[in-house]
Amino acid sequence: MDGRYVHIGRLLAGGFEDGEAAIRGWIYRTRSSGKLCFVTVRDSTGVLQVTVARGSVPDADFEGAKRALIESSVQCSGTVVKDERAPGGFELRAASFTVLGGSDNFPITEYRSEEHLLNYRHLWIRSQELTRIMKVKSSALAAAREWFSQNDFYEVTPPIITSNSCEGGSTLFELKYFGERAYLSQSAQLYLEAMMYSLERVFALTPSFRAEKSRTTRHLAEYWHLEGEEAFVGNQENMTLQEELVSAMVTGAARRNPEELRALGRDPSELLGMVPPFKRLSYGEAVKRLRDRGAAFEWGMDPGTNEERLLVEGEEKPVFIYNYPKEIKAFYMRENPDDPRTYLCADLLGPEGYGEIIGGSERETDGDRLVERLKAQGSPLEPYQWYLDLRRFGSVQHSGFGLGIERLLRWVCKQEHIRDTIPFPRTINRVYP
Ligand code: ATP
Ligand code: MN
Repeated sequence: MDGRYVHIGRLLAGGFEDGEAAIRGWIYRTRSSGKLCFVTVRDSTGVLQVTVARGSVPDADFEGAKRALIESSVQCSGTVVKDERAPGGFELRAASFTVLGGSDNFPITEYRSEEHLLNYRHLWIRSQELTRIMKVKSSALAAAREWFSQNDFYEVTPPIITSNSCEGGSTLFELKYFGERAYLSQSAQLYLEAMMYSLERVFALTPSFRAEKSRTTRHLAEYWHLEGEEAFVGNQENMTLQEELVSAMVTGAARRNPEELRALGRDPSELLGMVPPFKRLSYGEAVKRLRDRGAAFEWGMDPGTNEERLLVEGEEKPVFIYNYPKEIKAFYMRENPDDPRTYLCADLLGPEGYGEIIGGSERETDGDRLVERLKAQGSPLEPYQWYLDLRRFGSVQHSGFGLGIERLLRWVCKQEHIRDTIPFPRTINRVYP
């Protein structure tokens, strides 16, 4: 921050008592009575009560403070005074108070329906609740990048516009591309596989797009996908990398944002306990667990939200379910040599019923098998020619995974709905603002 100004968070940490300080930010609350205005100012780090008294500031400043509505941007200076009654324990007694940008009547008041808040998302984004979540998200992403870099991964930038589908046609967004047909990426995986041949370990953070037709509390039409791909790695080691990554992200967030997490209802010490290893259940064991717990679940079925909740009951940490039946997974996975009905793959389920956070697998290295599966699912081969080439030039064992950032944040921040973990949610019935 510019030397004349101090962040409110630093000021509240102490050491400024009875000294002069200047702050800037936005009006969070304001009330005035006669010769006094009590203005609570927020900046990116906290809120501070500013007392503006007639006579202590130039008259124009006092009039400005009195008239300014909430969300006006302001800068002020004065003396820092310890005051137990003020939020945070300090107040600023103003010597100057300048309104930088005035504010109209703010459209978000005490009464607000969900729909109203979503219509005014561009303003609601300033709320303490969403600000906390965005801080936690930023920390989790910083921790992820740190972890990848410590583990020899290169960050790469795959395309978003593609000519082929990775996760199946039913959720594809189609777009006109200079007279041709193209799609918004559902996953960067196929491109990461291509880049792995030179860099060995790659990762990318990109938006993925899924035209999800069902309304759920864990599906967005646009979400942030953190994907990794690793040469010379099998399915079990792939899971080890994932649990280390998830652990780094959630403990990193807990260390950087304990206060935000507490305010969101998440005890940071729970997150600090998310250390490897995470339990690994085979799909077969999962079927047994579900049946033991009363579900009418048959081998071959795809666990839905309720089953995923039941599977993690009594578990404190995330749980891997590995080696699913082929029918319910994607064409690019490697067949399990010990049980050809299944693939070498794993989903990581969050605790407390938050559901799938990561999908990962060892990839099929045999081009002929890939061709067979694409044909069997009725996919045209042309868009995949480049991908099939990868098996013709130095094919090698490799694995990878895709982590839904908002899925992870929903769990970490204890959010009912995934939309509050992304600033501008895109869902089946909303693309504004
Ligand atoms: P689900 O079965 O939960 O719909 P999926 O198996 O279709 O997910 P994958 O194709 O495995 O998802 O995608 C990898 C990861 O991306 C998932 O583990 C999840 O964390 C995230 N993800 C998938 N779809 C969405 C979505 N619509 N919104 C937000 N995150 C998603
Ligand atoms: Mn999945």
